[in-house]
Amino acid sequence: MPAKKKSVKVLRCPTCGTLVRLKDEDFPFCSDRCRKIDLGKWAMGVYKISSPVLDPEVLEDLGNLGSNRGSDSDNE
Ligand SMILES: [Zn+2]
Repeated sequence: MPAKKKSVKVLRCPTCGTLVRLKDEDFPFCSDRCRKIDLGKWAMGVYKISSPVLDPEVLEDLGNLGSNRGSDSDNE
């Protein structure tokens, strides 16, 4: 076992990869800027979330389901 024991928790900034300490006020980001960049990525859809709702065809289906209720919807 290593003699040195580091108790400081560190993570890498998701945006730029800089090591960030748990104490940091912008944790898990290294800075407020990186936090905003990360949020911007989400907003721009850089991270592909499983969101089939954004598919126009699915939106159409949803529209049909709303106006055409009667059959059991067991969509695939
Ligand atoms: Zn960063």
